[in-house]
Formats: sequence, structure tokens, C-alpha cells
Amino acid sequence: MKEPAVADYDVDLFVIGAGSGGVRAARIAAGYGARVAIAEDFRVGGTCVIRGCVPKKLYVYASRFADAFEDAAGFGWTVPEATFSWEGLVAAKEKEITRLSGLYAANLDRAGVTLHRQRAALSGPNAVRLADGTEITAGTILIATGGAPVGADIPGAELAISSNEAFDLPRFPETIVIAGGGYIALEFASVFAGLGSKVTLIHRGDKVLRGFDEDVRDEVAEGLRKRGVELVLSDEIAEIAAAGEGRRVATKAGRVIEADQVMLAIGRTPATAGLGLETTNVMTSHAGAILVDVNNRTNVASVYAVGDVTDRVNLTPVAIREGHAFADTVFGNRPTVVAYDAIPTAVFVTPEVGVVGLTEAQAREKGEVDIYKTRFRAMKATLSGRDEKVLMKIVVDAATDRVLGVHVVGEAAAEMIQLAAIAVRMGATKADFDQTVALHPSAAEELVTLR
Ligand code: NDP
Repeated sequence: MKEPAVADYDVDLFVIGAGSGGVRAARIAAGYGARVAIAEDFRVGGTCVIRGCVPKKLYVYASRFADAFEDAAGFGWTVPEATFSWEGLVAAKEKEITRLSGLYAANLDRAGVTLHRQRAALSGPNAVRLADGTEITAGTILIATGGAPVGADIPGAELAISSNEAFDLPRFPETIVIAGGGYIALEFASVFAGLGSKVTLIHRGDKVLRGFDEDVRDEVAEGLRKRGVELVLSDEIAEIAAAGEGRRVATKAGRVIEADQVMLAIGRTPATAGLGLETTNVMTSHAGAILVDVNNRTNVASVYAVGDVTDRVNLTPVAIREGHAFADTVFGNRPTVVAYDAIPTAVFVTPEVGVVGLTEAQAREKGEVDIYKTRFRAMKATLSGRDEKVLMKIVVDAATDRVLGVHVVGEAAAEMIQLAAIAVRMGATKADFDQTVALHPSAAEELVTLR
């Protein structure tokens, strides 16, 4: 354990924010014998569990039944007209999220962590103040408050929802305008379209998913269009106004679109408001992210931060790694630095995206590359008749034969990429892929038969 002059402090570690990073850090530190307290003013579990990855994936599953019902006819099934209950989905989701949040709280309790269900803010380098006025002193403070959706600086922005509200809309939106071209905008566009909404996606760029491989970006746009999403590119919302029960959107290019709901998914920002950072001069970037070193330590020796509030790689498993590494380093006497290379990621649109490593363009900046690419009709589509292709692309370093990136768009892409990421991390070469015997019949086998 950290050498504490801590006997004088109320706790050894105070964690602000009980999301993925904070909960992991609290539990591991407590496991090392630290006296730990954690504060959370919303539901225990954080964005991912309560209004992010988990409910999102449940809604993705729900949205994909639309394809399944349609495809079933090709396999001999007669499916009577299917009806969907938004209220039923919201209630089922709520039950599961409540169960998970309860598990998180129970695990904290079992680990001996004291949970304060209220806001906490720094009141000094070794002290936090709770919303009820209680001051608690701590040898170490960890900030793990995550992020929040950014709003738009346009007239009527307050009439729009964010992903936070989208999960629990009192009425299913028959029509929805979504602004943005990143993970959240695309995933919700895909979900609402699958559930039966008429979706218009407005994105300021000329292609969605900036930063992803160009072939992936094109494939995703096509997949969305095929599912009825209207993609409005190179345009932005200029104004939102109320129109009866719904909304009227005016765009910079002069479009006027009416819809039941307007959702902004134009990025997230580190959640530092009201955290009292100024009381201890914790340094932040221009974008408001808490600046930390490789050990997650801020410029104030007793204050650390992990997860989205530091705006490094904003993914749940990364926040968990950072929280764990922090606890190992500070309380376990096991200095651990998180490796940020070859982090696999998925965009849960339909068909979904799974990628790991470098895009073709990124790899070309580093040297000569060989590109292996295929676009084929999945076996299932032969009988379903669905007009859809699977895209697979492997980016290889021409000099060393090392696989630098794997990009998949198609059913189960996320599942494939999790495993491909092991190979990429281990430094597998294209020859290693080639020598791996194919598993037939599968879509993934194309990854080892690409020539
Ligand atoms: P992203 O940063 O992924 O995307 C933001 C989008 O909004 C981009 O298309 C961007 O366009 C656009 N945008 C930014 N500012 C403006 C503006 N002022 N006006 C109009 N458009 C704008 O953010 P998300 O909110 O989608 O997601 C946040 C993060 O959460 C992700 O980066 C990811 O790390 C994480 N996440 C991960 C998921 C997963 O793993 N499946 C799912 C959901 C979220 P441009 O490209 O031109 O900048």
C-alpha cells in the first residue's frame, strides 16, 4: 500500500464518480486494504451502464429484429405482421439497468467501499465537500466523472434531446432528425430506423465516421441508406423551432425538416463543471479535459483522474484499465501503465463495424503497405435475398508483413475484431493469418483466406 501519512485523513482514497473507471479503481484499491469512499449523484454504474453502451446494445438487439423478420421469409418462415412496443422495450431495458446498477452498488459494498449518493467537489488537495456540506479528507482523490453531451450554440437548441433522453422518450418518435456523424449519431440513427422511425441524419462533413478507414465510411453510409436513413451531408442544423407537438429544423443549406424529435449527437465533453478544480488549481486542457501523466496523476500530487474526464481514448474498457492501473500503482505497489495501441472498437450500426489498428491512410503515412480487401455476399443473404455485402480489409506493413489494421463491416464484426485484436497486438504477420486454417462456413474465415 502507498506509504500514507494518512492516518489523519478520513479515508485513503476518495473517488468522485461511480462509473466504469471510478468503480474499478475503488474496488481494487479497497482490495489492497485502502479505506475508500466514492460519491455518485446519479445512478451507480455511470454512462456506460445507465445511458450508454449497455442500454444502447439492448436497443440495437431490438432494432435488428426488423431485419430478422424480413429475412425469415427466405428460409421458409411466414411471419405474421410484427408490431413493436416502445413502452415494452423501455420497461425491459429499465429493469435490466436497475439490476446492473444494483449489482455495481452491491459489489462496492462487498469490497468495503463507502458509497455517498450525492455530488462531491474538491475543496482542497486532500479534501472533498459533499452536496450536504460534509467535508471528507482523503490521502488521494480520484476524479472519474466521465463526460456529457455537448449542446449546440443555435436558436432552439434546448428543444433537442441528447442520447441521455433518447432511451426514455415518453413516445416513440415516428420521425427523428439526428445531428452528427460519429458513434452516437450513427448508432441511434440505425436503432431508430430499425425500430420503424423515419430518420434523417444531418452531418457537417461529406462522409460519416471521420477517422475511420475510407472504405468503412463508405460501406456504413450505404448500409444506413439501405435501411432507409436519409443522409444529409455537408450541412448543419441552423435553428430548431417548435412545430405543434414536434419540431421544425432549418439547416444552413436551407433545408426545412419537420420531425417528432431532434437529437444532437455532436460530441461529448469532459464533465468537470462544479468539480471545484479551481480550488486546487488542477490543470485542464483548452477542451476542458483534466490533464494527467501516464500514471493518471494531475499536476496536484494527491489528485488523479481516469476515463472520459481526461479525454484520452473515450471507451469504457479503457476507463476500466486506467482505473485499475491507478489502483495498482498507487495502492498496490505495482506500477502499471496502460497501453493505448491496438484498441479494438465497434460502431453498433447495422451492419456493424469492428476495427482494430491503423486505417489504410494512417498506415501509408508510415510507409509502404499492402492492402487485402474483399466485399462479398454473406451466406445468409443468399436465401434472405438481402442486398447487403460484408467488407473486410487488412492493412499490412509491406516491409515486415506485419498486420497493422483489420477492418470489418458486417454481421458480428465486433465479435470478430475482439479476437483479431489479439493477433494484431501480438504482432501477427499476414503469413500468420494465411497459415491459420479457415473455419468453414463462416464470414470470419475470409480474414485468413484473403490473397
Ligand atoms: P464523436 O466525436 O464520435 O462524433 C461527433 C460528431 O459530431 C462528429 O461527426 C463531428 O463531426 C460532429 N460534430 C462535432 N461538433 C459539431 C458541431 N459543432 N456541429 C455539427 N456537428 C458537429 O462523438 P459522439 O458523441 O458520437 O461519441 C462520443 C464518444 O463516445 C466517441 O468518440 C466514443 O469514444 C464514445 N462512444 C463509443 C461507442 C462505441 O464504442 N460503440 C458508442 C458511443 C460513444 P466531424 O467529424 O466533422 O468532427
